[in-house]
Amino acid sequence: MRKILLHTCCAICAAYPVKLLREQGYEPVVYFYNPNIYPEIEYKRRLDELVAYSKKENFELYFEELKSDDFNKIAKGYEKEPEKGKRCERCFYLRLGKAAQKAKKLSIDYYTTTLTISPHKVTKQIFEAANTVSKETGIEFLPYDFKKKDGFKITQQIAKENNMYKQTYCGCKYSIREAKQQLD
Ligand code: SF4
Repeated sequence: MRKILLHTCCAICAAYPVKLLREQGYEPVVYFYNPNIYPEIEYKRRLDELVAYSKKENFELYFEELKSDDFNKIAKGYEKEPEKGKRCERCFYLRLGKAAQKAKKLSIDYYTTTLTISPHKVTKQIFEAANTVSKETGIEFLPYDFKKKDGFKITQQIAKENNMYKQTYCGCKYSIREAKQQLD
């Protein structure tokens, strides 16, 4: 089976992409690098759930320790940006850049990301960041838009069946602010 590096932000978002990629003849090697996640306890929750799911579904998983400075550097000056704005573009570029580098290290020719499964993110921004990274690293990005064909619905269903931890905000401290405003 051809390997593909699958960057993911959490177990829920990985569930359907892992299934779909396997159905299409790929063996996903999952990679968790998300220095945007705040606070540390939330990072641990999302990672712990992913580790448990990797054991259940038997996929290879690599992860990084939380490196908040990586994110803080790229978010500086963009703190007031709304979700879907320029801070998010920089956040995608940071995470996908590291994912492609990881694929290179592991001698995997392709990479993709579960970020496209979220209806709250702009797919075009994700693809643009990924294509820039591809040009810089030579690792081919496969442009899966995982939310299509009910992908978002299916992944939520798998999460429910597995009683997975479900976050209430995108990840960074600024997205906590936005999630709270939506509730007010
Ligand atoms: S809202 Fe989400 S995608 Fe945007 S910067 Fe924060 S963590 Fe990254």
